[in-house]
Amino acid sequence: MPRETTLHPYEPDDDLDRDLRPQRMADMVGQVKVAERLRIVLDAAQKRNEPLGHILFDGPPGLGKTTFARCIPNELGVSVQLAVGASLKAPKDLLPYLTNVEERSVLFIDEIHRIPRAVEEFLYTAMEDFRIDIVLGEGVNARTLNMPLKPFTLIGATTRAGMLSGPLRERFRYREHLGFYEVDELTLIVRRNAAKLRVEIDADSPREIACRSRSTPRVANNLLRWVRDYADSKANGRISLEVAEAALQMAGVDKLGLDSQDRRYLETIIRVFGGGPAGVEAIAHTMNIAPDTLTDEVEPFLLRTELVIRTPRGRTVTPQGFAHVNMPMPTSDRNPDGRQQSLFE
Ligand code: ADP
Repeated sequence: MPRETTLHPYEPDDDLDRDLRPQRMADMVGQVKVAERLRIVLDAAQKRNEPLGHILFDGPPGLGKTTFARCIPNELGVSVQLAVGASLKAPKDLLPYLTNVEERSVLFIDEIHRIPRAVEEFLYTAMEDFRIDIVLGEGVNARTLNMPLKPFTLIGATTRAGMLSGPLRERFRYREHLGFYEVDELTLIVRRNAAKLRVEIDADSPREIACRSRSTPRVANNLLRWVRDYADSKANGRISLEVAEAALQMAGVDKLGLDSQDRRYLETIIRVFGGGPAGVEAIAHTMNIAPDTLTDEVEPFLLRTELVIRTPRGRTVTPQGFAHVNMPMPTSDRNPDGRQQSLFE
């Protein structure tokens, strides 16, 4: 099914992230409580000369899980290996990482909820006792080789903490949840990153970009890059409020941070389903979009901003949702409870 382009991709693009990603904890903006706690455990581990306990970061995409995971080894002055859960399909896929760990180094596994059970079980002894049991041969000839590992720190990141099994979750000594960012924090991120990109920006534009960034630093970075491209192409490389607004309007990103696909979702429920309730499959088919795309990429932000609510009977646009897309709420055909009558009731 066709996918519309969007300036809100939550999937990391490592090349793009690299030059803007803070390298040290002191450069990170916001997440104050998380950073404070991490500083304490880092300090304590260094004072005791011990490896840092395993850490699990969870939270929606683009909020800084990978950034924290990369800053921590820099703070400790140790090496880091990076792995992604989806590519660890069998225990043997973990072997190169585990055999390469150095004393107190960090192994980072992104999207750790995607590792299969067999790999997870293999990790248990690695995490707990710093050893792995390798089975060599098959059948009656099989024997288990016990291999010690250097003490290391596993940092896991997940957008779906609920999908992690209890035993794996419990093997992390520290669990940190990353929440959404305030506009002031995103404004500071945009201002700093404009300086890193060496683009001239006026006093008001960082806030304008921040307001439309869905409380998410990765989105703020993507919007800043787009506004910079626009300014380079149309405005001698200078970002003024006028230039920023024109660029964001051209990208279809509105004042609340909705893009054209988000607005089409709201308009479809209103136009075709009378504002709801409507099932996600029906909405997806009408929009000619995969239902997963709606539930994973479109709905979370609209639910968070309360433009839509999810009920057991389907999705319903709220009065704020109607107002946002400038469509009138129907006044007739109401049930006694004041709820809008759906087409399919
Ligand atoms: P996640 O791993 O949670 O999906 P990332 O750590 O990759 O998110 O963050 C995406 C980008 O957002 C980073 O490249 C970085 O530039 C920026 N970013 C994230 N958190 C912060 C922060 N606290 N301060 C400044 N920039 C941040």
